[in-house]
Amino acid sequence: MPGPHCGHWIGAEAKYCRSADQVRHYLTGHRCPAHTPNALRGLPEVPPGPGRPREWATPLPTRTPTARDKRHLTVVKKEDR
Ligand SMILES: [Zn+2]
Repeated sequence: MPGPHCGHWIGAEAKYCRSADQVRHYLTGHRCPAHTPNALRGLPEVPPGPGRPREWATPLPTRTPTARDKRHLTVVKKEDR
C-alpha cells in the first residue's frame, strides 16, 4: 500500500476507508477529509499551521471565591461538664 491512507473504520460497511486522497495525519492516525476527528464530530476543520484555534486561547475564567471560602472558622465551644 503506497503512501498514507485513511485508517477510519466504517462500521456500517465493515471495512476501512483506505482513501489516499488528501490524507493528513492526526492523533488517531491518517484520515481523509471526510473522516478527520473534527469531521466525525460535525465540527469545522482546523487549518494546518502554527498556533492554536482561537477558542483555545481564551483564558480560563478567574475563580471567584464562594461563600464557603469566605466563611470564617467557627469556634467550637467546649462543653462544660
Ligand atoms: Zn476516510
